[in-house]
This record gives sequence, C-alpha cells and structure tokens, in this order.
Amino acid sequence: MTLIKSKLPTTGTTIFTRMSALAAQYDALNLSQGYPDFDPPQALLEAMSRAIKEGNNQYAPMAGLPALREQLAGQLALHRNVNCNPDTEITIVPGATEGIYCSIMASVHSGDEVIVLDPCYDSYAPAIHMAGGRAIHVALQGDSFAPDWAAIEAALSPRSRMIVINSPHNPTGTTWSEADLQTLEKLAQQHNLLVCSDEVYEHLVYDGQQHHSVLQRPGLRERAFAHFSFGKTFSVTGWKTGYCVAPPALTAELRKVHQFVAFVAVTPVQQAIADFLTSDPGYPATLADTYQRRRDLFCHALEPSRFTLRPSQGTYFQLLDYSAISDLPDRQLSEEWTRSPGIASIPVSVFYQRAPRQGLLRFCFAKRDEVLLEAAEMLCKI
Ligand code: GLN
Repeated sequence: MTLIKSKLPTTGTTIFTRMSALAAQYDALNLSQGYPDFDPPQALLEAMSRAIKEGNNQYAPMAGLPALREQLAGQLALHRNVNCNPDTEITIVPGATEGIYCSIMASVHSGDEVIVLDPCYDSYAPAIHMAGGRAIHVALQGDSFAPDWAAIEAALSPRSRMIVINSPHNPTGTTWSEADLQTLEKLAQQHNLLVCSDEVYEHLVYDGQQHHSVLQRPGLRERAFAHFSFGKTFSVTGWKTGYCVAPPALTAELRKVHQFVAFVAVTPVQQAIADFLTSDPGYPATLADTYQRRRDLFCHALEPSRFTLRPSQGTYFQLLDYSAISDLPDRQLSEEWTRSPGIASIPVSVFYQRAPRQGLLRFCFAKRDEVLLEAAEMLCKI
C-alpha cells in the first residue's frame, strides 16, 4: 500500500535545481539558474550584520517590519507615482514565490480557472493546482512573445477567476507596454478577474524604457496582487525576501494564508533593507544601467557566434536561438553543452505546457564580466 498519494504527481525537481546541480557536477560555467555571481552593495552587507548584532533576531510582525513597509510605500511613490497604505496594502513575504503562492491560495477555489501565459515561470501552475484550480495555458505569440489577446479572451469561461502575468518576463526578457496593460485592464474589468502580477524584475528594464506596473492603472490596481523580490533588486537571491502590494481586502485574505504558510519573513533581512533604503533610496534606479552594460557585453561578445540573439528588453536573461546549429531538443542540448564544452543554460521548452518547435536556450547575464566573456568565447566555438 502506498503511504503517500502525490498531490503533484507529474511535477519533478525544478529545472533550476537540476541544471545548477549538473553545472556543479561538470564544473561548467553556470548561466542557468538566475542569480548574480557578484556581491550585493557593501552598505547592505554592513546593514545586515548590524541588524543581527543589534538584536533584530526574533519574529517580526506578521505583515512585516513597519519601518520597511513605510520605506516601500516611499519607493512606490518615488519610482511609480503610486500611493499605498503600508499598514493595509503591503505585506513582506519570504520571497516572491511565497507571496505568489499565498495570493493564489487565497483567491482560487476548487474548480476555478486561472489563465497563465506560456512560457511561464514554473511556480504558478503547481500553486494553482494545490489550490484546487485549473491552470489554463495560453501561449504568448510566436517570436515576439507578446500577449495574444484573442486567444486569452477565447480561453476565458464563467469559471475564470484570475490571470497571472509577468513583466519583465522570465524566461524571454520581453516587457509589457502600457497598451498591453490597458487591454488587460479592460478584459479584467469585463470578466471580473483578479490579477496576479509578477514584477520581480521591475528595475531591470533597458534601452531607456520604463517598467509599467499594474499598480499604475486604477482598474488593475483595485484587483491585483503585485509581487516584488528583494533578491533581484539587491542581488541577494539567497535572502529570500520580497513583498506583495494589494488593496486592503485582497491583502487581508493574502495575510490569512501567509500567516500559516510562513507566518513572517526573516527579521534582520527586513531591518537591513529598511536601513539601506533609508540611506540610499535611489539605489534601485541605478540597476538598469549596470545590467544593461552586462547584457551588451555578453551580446557583443556573441556577435561572431552562430546563434541568433533574441532581444532582451528586461530581466537578466538572454535567449539564444540555436536552430542554425542543431535540431536537437533544447533539454538534451542544454545538458550536453553543460558536460562539454562546459556551459549551463536553461531550456525554454520547460516553461510551456505544450512547447512549440523552437530551439531556444536561456542564459543568465547577472555574472561578472570575465565569466560572461569566457561563456561567450565558448559559445562562439560551438
Ligand atoms: N528565478 C530563478 C530563475 O529563473 C531561479 C529561482 C529558483 O531556482 N527557483 O532562474
């Protein structure tokens, strides 16, 4: 007799864990899992050690340290011209993954449908499933990865409860325009949909473009959970802390779940980020330039290669199209190239329910210059 009946029988270990493990096994350059290989700002590290030494080591209030929530309300006003009440609309969470999970658990009832746009981040569909809902996968359009509004509308039913969106987009590096959000606003209002908006790469938008947040459109603001991650903004993915902004009624439901999934986020991390933002509120706005420089260095070094580069407008990911080089499936190729010549990437097909025929690998450029140049040199020889 089996002891446990799986609730996620078709789910394995995530591609990020698998590719990073393979990269370690073969001592490959690891451009697969998305994380920086350089240090966070020194002042943040000092703020963290001060926070620990000064005794911020017990539970924070369930919704997060008030000082941090106030700083974040200030940040939203500064960067997005958005007003929000830090007491009733901001919740600090142990990573955006937990925030997204809690917002889905709080909203999706048994039999509800949730639209997700493929290729999509791997945590959305399992969360919907755990809530008893059904993920309805709608593919982003062909080469542009723009939302296919006709297909999204056709996928809606009376059971549709929520749509999950992600801009800047992992894995493609595309971003949504203001017009996209405007269209979403109309659709969400018409069909009374909740919106789960994954904006963890909000500060990584390039070429002079702006990030467009659901918080900036009143018709979306009133029905959205917007998720952010300090891991991305401060280059501390291992600190696993982020926040969710949502109107009071949605926040109240999110917190009911959050208090029993994690209860709180880690206290000294919250104190350190609050202190860092107090002394350097402009820091997040400096990220785009430094990451754009890394993207450009990597792309420029790849010019002699046989890969076709897809434009990366945001995030720290660059898609390379290898169809001029090989017909092999992307999963096989990413593993092969990890073993030899020794460079790890993420196959894009894993982010689809039904992957189209395309030869795309995702490379993370949140790496030191010498690593990016070594990676590009290897790729140019393929
Ligand atoms: N978000 C990161 C990526 O896309 C990885 C996070 C994780 O490993 N779960 O690579």
